[in-house]
Amino acid sequence: MYIGRFAPSPTGELHFGSLLAALASFLDAKSNNGLWLLRIDDIDPPREMPGASQRIIQSLSDYGLQWDKEVIFQSERQHLYNDALQKLILANLAYPCFCSRKDIKQRSGNGFYDGYCRKTDNSAINLESTIPLAQNHAWRFKSADNQITWQDGILGEQSCEFPDLADFVVLRRDKLWAYQLAVTVDDYLMGITHIVRGNDLLHESAKQLTLIEALNYSTIHYSHIPLITHADGQKLSKQNHAPALNADNACKDLLKALSFLGQNVPSSLKTANKHEILQSAIINWQPQAIPKNNISINS
Ligand code: GLU
Repeated sequence: MYIGRFAPSPTGELHFGSLLAALASFLDAKSNNGLWLLRIDDIDPPREMPGASQRIIQSLSDYGLQWDKEVIFQSERQHLYNDALQKLILANLAYPCFCSRKDIKQRSGNGFYDGYCRKTDNSAINLESTIPLAQNHAWRFKSADNQITWQDGILGEQSCEFPDLADFVVLRRDKLWAYQLAVTVDDYLMGITHIVRGNDLLHESAKQLTLIEALNYSTIHYSHIPLITHADGQKLSKQNHAPALNADNACKDLLKALSFLGQNVPSSLKTANKHEILQSAIINWQPQAIPKNNISINS
């Protein structure tokens, strides 16, 4: 069975770029008779905006993007990430890292991790007394892959290699769980089979595939949609103040998002309500029509 998801971080409200990702993943799941789950990736409090989680949930509802099952909050699942890290440590696939960002930059020049702390032999680590959360260092994943190739649902064959695949942090020194580990663990436990999201996460997918392999999880089918950019090529994002979605424009925005996704939008939908628009979009969904390249909002 197809199980898809949308997993926003509550660092701000949803904007038109997020709508595109939510809509594409929703339509892909629904047109495959699948489930579409909602998870709030709230494990990085310093980057979060108070109230954003509830506003994101409200926005999705206002746009008719109804998720299945209960909303999942990553902040309530930290014990699961801890279990996964313990599993990696036991398999000698994670090691403590004491390097600062400055150390790494000085050594490698480009900010990619050079494996300096990799030599740690985990057999000397007494797991009973070594609770990862109590340590004053980061934990890194020991990547076994120098290169990984996979088939993207929209972009076709993709590959990623070292140094983009360099050993990445799974638990930060400040004891916050890294995005990579939390997402991989949750996607697996939620039974996610398909992920449709923006192409800014293409390299993240490669890293997640290496973790999936290391943790013996079932693999996921990824599809990366184009990003909406400003005229200068910059991604429309919360960081560069993309305006929040406004429920009053739901129908207009849905139609615009569908045409950005390369979908055929019958003119009869111009007067339709959001549910009719979404029903028609599910029936007529053509993932192969999604453009591969980023799209300027001014186009
Ligand atoms: N939570 C992440 C974000 O909002 C992305 C989640 C994902 O699709 O893996 O950027």
